[in-house]
Amino acid sequence: MPFIELNVLNNAADPILGIDLGTTNSLAAIWRDGRPQVLRHEGNDGRVPSALYFPENGDKPIVGQKVREQALVDPRGTVFSIKRFMGRGLADMEGELSSVQFPAKEGEHGLIQFDIRGRLYTPQELSALILMRVHDLACNALGGQHLNRAVITVPAYFDDSQRQATRDAARLAGLQVERIINEPTAASLAYGLDQKKEGTIAVYDLGGGTFDVSILSIEDGVFRVLSTSGDTHLGGDDFDRLLVGLALEDLRSKVDAETARDPAFLQALRLAAERTKMELSSRLEAEYHLVVPESDLRYHREIRRSEFDALAGPLVERTLDACRRAMSDAGLEAKDIDEVVLVGGSTRIPLVRQTVEEFFGRKPHSELNPDEVVALGAAVQGHILAGGTRDILLMDVVSLSLGLETVGGGVDKVILRNSPIPCQATETYTTNVDNQTGIEFNVVQGERELAGDCRSLGKFELEGIPPMPAGMARVAARFQIDANGMLSVTAKEQSTGTTAKIDVEPMHGLTDDEVETMLKASYDNAQDDFDRRRVADLKVEIDRMARATRAHLDEARPKLDPETLEDIDEALTAADAAASVNDPDAIQKVRDELERATLPLAAVLMDEVAKQAVAGKTLEEASE
Ligand code: AMP
Repeated sequence: MPFIELNVLNNAADPILGIDLGTTNSLAAIWRDGRPQVLRHEGNDGRVPSALYFPENGDKPIVGQKVREQALVDPRGTVFSIKRFMGRGLADMEGELSSVQFPAKEGEHGLIQFDIRGRLYTPQELSALILMRVHDLACNALGGQHLNRAVITVPAYFDDSQRQATRDAARLAGLQVERIINEPTAASLAYGLDQKKEGTIAVYDLGGGTFDVSILSIEDGVFRVLSTSGDTHLGGDDFDRLLVGLALEDLRSKVDAETARDPAFLQALRLAAERTKMELSSRLEAEYHLVVPESDLRYHREIRRSEFDALAGPLVERTLDACRRAMSDAGLEAKDIDEVVLVGGSTRIPLVRQTVEEFFGRKPHSELNPDEVVALGAAVQGHILAGGTRDILLMDVVSLSLGLETVGGGVDKVILRNSPIPCQATETYTTNVDNQTGIEFNVVQGERELAGDCRSLGKFELEGIPPMPAGMARVAARFQIDANGMLSVTAKEQSTGTTAKIDVEPMHGLTDDEVETMLKASYDNAQDDFDRRRVADLKVEIDRMARATRAHLDEARPKLDPETLEDIDEALTAADAAASVNDPDAIQKVRDELERATLPLAAVLMDEVAKQAVAGKTLEEASE
């Protein structure tokens, strides 16, 4: 079983919270059960958006998740990115004021203040409101235990005045600050790098709106910042903007100038772009789609990771410029760096990982969740300060992805490689043909796209699904890995509650070398696998479309002209022959042709449905 090393510090007396007070999101973690853990609240990942909304009627400000919704309705009451203003003078901040929708004023010592609905607030006071919310949720997640000691993280480049402002914010929030530590130091602590006798570390932090790179040295457990660089306006939002631009270009003829400026439309487009970007981090191709019912607008295109990479290349290159500056300021070259640590959600982008790896000539640490690693490190520091003792924890992770074979032979990965165990995940499936009463599940392990290239861990069948049309049944498949690495997969049909289950030991009979070989095979075959998977999925789709066409063709035949019927017949013949086509583009053509040829049939059927609806009958009743 592979592992990652973390500091484990045992027997702390009074726990100290670790808080990552971020520009976009904040997060609390604590040392619990022998390791640092993020404090999550019910049904939530634990992150609190660092945002505030001040209602017009003067009611108490709203903090966190709900502010995003409010921003859509009343953007003029919102405060975002307050961290940028901590300990800064009004004169320094001219270009930055748009994230706070209230007038800025000069306060004591030239420091910035905001006039919010008739009351003056310093950035410390606003940050304190965010910290209070984070603290409350953390205490709730701890079952009501009240802890008020905290370690808080700040960027390595924060000066004394910015650090002092952070301390003040925490004090105003009722927290006792045990230490302010640098974010890159926290990330290094989370990976246990303070265990090294000596060495140099590069921490590459690409978040939602900012990029920071820090070069640290470590000597006998003490970190020193050698240099920092970055770009305060470069992050995941810029990657989203590239995709928004692409859609606007495609939609040029369909969207008028007014819609293109409409904040609700732009927000929906931005969210679709972000979804697509994230999907491209785990897949080689994604659907980029958006439906805006109010303006009857539909947008859909497929985008390949390679297309996204081509767009994103210049942004990633800009981060390297900052890395070069940091290296040169530290008087080091890439070869002198011993460890590289990735922080921030945008480091999940494969192009980013690959570019960083090539630049520093070594594989970066990415085993921990990059959104959580700073808070986890703050919790480690909290534990050290609380008097814990040192140990090494071997944290087990899943060495190969686990999933299910899909109809057509593809693999749906349910638990991804490198997920820390214990863990669980659920995917929902449905039936493929009408009146199907059973589903066979093949549990597979590996990184390849087709089940045939993965290791089958076992098969089991769920029976007793009530007969219903294809696609109606809902079957939840839950994967659960316990602390010992045992996997159980349970399938449950939602309407009857019928279940079937299998227990397996995923690593049984697998050596580390075999795992390595399997991983290598997945890299070597990535493009080929992707094409074969696409062909397999298209075959399933063509089969389903052909069956649906045949089921309805006879009833619609009298309403279709001979040319259309001939067209459909030809497309069906090509569909029947598709089973032996293995070229992805050729088979895509067969599918598209079948869709084109059957459009008139769909129109006739829709017409029929509409008529029957008016007559108060369903199509089935009508055709009986
Ligand atoms: P952070 O500020 O560290 O929470 O980073 C948030 C940024 O990470 C946002 O721009 C997200 O869109 C981006 N992000 C989160 N998950 C992914 C992913 N899987 N692929 C690409 N970007 C991601």
